[in-house]
Amino acid sequence: MQERRNVYFHHNHSSDLLTKAQPLFELAERYGFHQVKDHQDANIIVSLGGDGAFLQALRKTDFREDCLYAGVSTSGNLNMYCDFYINDTSKMIDAMTNENLEVRRYPTLEVKLNEESSFFCLNECSVRSSIIKTFVMDVFIDELHFETFRGDGMVIATPTGSTAYNKSVNGAIVDPLLPCMQVSEMASLNNNTYRTLGSSFILGSNRTLSLRMNQELNNYPIIGMDNEALSMKHIEEIEVTLSGKQIKTLKLKDNSFWEKVKRTFL
Ligand code: NAP
Ligand code: MN
Repeated sequence: MQERRNVYFHHNHSSDLLTKAQPLFELAERYGFHQVKDHQDANIIVSLGGDGAFLQALRKTDFREDCLYAGVSTSGNLNMYCDFYINDTSKMIDAMTNENLEVRRYPTLEVKLNEESSFFCLNECSVRSSIIKTFVMDVFIDELHFETFRGDGMVIATPTGSTAYNKSVNGAIVDPLLPCMQVSEMASLNNNTYRTLGSSFILGSNRTLSLRMNQELNNYPIIGMDNEALSMKHIEEIEVTLSGKQIKTLKLKDNSFWEKVKRTFL
């Protein structure tokens, strides 16, 4: 890690947090890390907060592939993207001084709207009706018209996002060693006119999922990219693929994905 010592701390700048984090900033300097003010100068990006803060840290720093990301929890819990408690300095010193740290890579999604603007997601892309009426979309897997969906919406989750929104809509938990995306329904209407698969399905890394909106029937949907919402009129098509970008985090002794699942849910 000798030549990768520029650290950017991402946080909400609250005075409470700054007080909590001061010992960590000092520790980093003491171990030869240099705190940078601009994330573009960083090789290491540390998020202070919870999982939500980690998702924000990625978005605000543009999902950098050439950086190592680390999540430091400022509450009493370690969630899925946080591997350190802010007070556990010995574990951080261990990581800072270990020359042989391994890296863990997490798949991300790329979401294209109307074949133009493109966004990345680490947890999921969610597409939801913005009004109380159901909305309709045609679902394509590659070029195959798979189903016509009518209901509240859909969640398209990464493996690491499978423990978040995806889990609340009864999706399966997926090992991040499998590069794939999982598609789950939110309250689909099923009757003699509308029929959907009804269960979640998992698409391989070379597939494209396209959601085409019916312009006459729909009000515009709310599109969630992790924890940011986008509400756009005139969305005709949402295209989701597994992106080429993988997010790098630290591989520590105690932080395998299934250890995290166990400590969070069991
Ligand atoms: P939030 O509404 O404050 O938090 C949702 C909860 O999900 C928090 O406890 C958060 O942990 C946790 N979380 C985030 N990513 C996770 C992951 N990969 N695995 C397990 N738990 C995870 O919003 P937020 O903190 O900004 O997080 C955004 C995420 O919330 C979205 O990406 C979506 O997955 C999820 N969400 C879930 C539902 C639902 O389950 N019905 C609805 C909307 C959004 P922290 O407390 O550590 O932040
Ligand atoms: Mn949160």
